[in-house]
Amino acid sequence: MMNKVELLGHYGSDITHAQSAWTSTSRDLTEDKLNRVDKLLNMLASEGHHTPFEKSSLHFLVTVDQATHIHLLKHRIGVSINGESARYKELKEDKTYIPDDWPREWEEKLLDLSQVTNMAYHECIEALAPVVGRKRAKESARFFKMFNSQITMDVTFNWRSFYHFQQLRNSEHAQIEVRELAQEMLDIVKNLEGNPFEKTIEAFKL
Ligand SMILES: Cc1cc2nc3c(=O)[nH]c(=O)nc-3n(C[C@H](O)[C@H](O)[C@H](O)COP(=O)(O)OP(=O)(O)OC[C@H]3O[C@@H](n4cnc5c(N)ncnc54)[C@H](O)[C@@H]3O)c2cc1C
Repeated sequence: MMNKVELLGHYGSDITHAQSAWTSTSRDLTEDKLNRVDKLLNMLASEGHHTPFEKSSLHFLVTVDQATHIHLLKHRIGVSINGESARYKELKEDKTYIPDDWPREWEEKLLDLSQVTNMAYHECIEALAPVVGRKRAKESARFFKMFNSQITMDVTFNWRSFYHFQQLRNSEHAQIEVRELAQEMLDIVKNLEGNPFEKTIEAFKL
């Protein structure tokens, strides 16, 4: 199946970012200040005053191949990740990513090999459990899993780390799979009801 992303929740808005910055003077919101939110956010974004953008959060659930899994894990700052564990449970569902831009013949070869190795993974757990114990059987049988095996990850960004992720991964230099994931995340955020991050998105030119 293709990689997937859904938004579990979000916190904050343009006003949250603006008020965080205005804490240095007064957080009180007046009509005049509300009319200046876009100018303020543009200034903060362009001048690198990015800490106010750490006050929001974007919480996603994704199901991704192992290359994308690693790409996500490389983002160390302001990104909180929890993943499905092949140590603590047997991955009963053989979630398998097949690229959709390959010639059909090669898609089928990858699918066939994935099915063989997934079967070996389950058989290996059953065979090894009486020998090394079920815990060790589960954590080591996963060496049969292929790089296109998908796992589910719970990923939270703040706006600042989300922007950084977008810059690096929603780019022509990034692998297609993570680029598509980043674009899908951005589309979700752009289409939130009430468009709470509209001016922030404009300020960062996303
Ligand atoms: C196109 C592309 C190709 C890549 N190829 C490879 C590759 O071949 N091999 C590979 O290993 N990785 C590769 N990466 C991953 C890359 O090196 C980063 O690990 C990844 O993009 C996360 O970026 P980051 O460190 O800026 O993010 P974060 O870890 O989220 O850090 C955010 C920011 O915090 C600051 N920061 C974080 N840690 C430190 C620190 N220790 N000291 C000072 N400042 C810090 C930096 O300003 C950094 O940009 C690639 C990434 C891209 C986008």
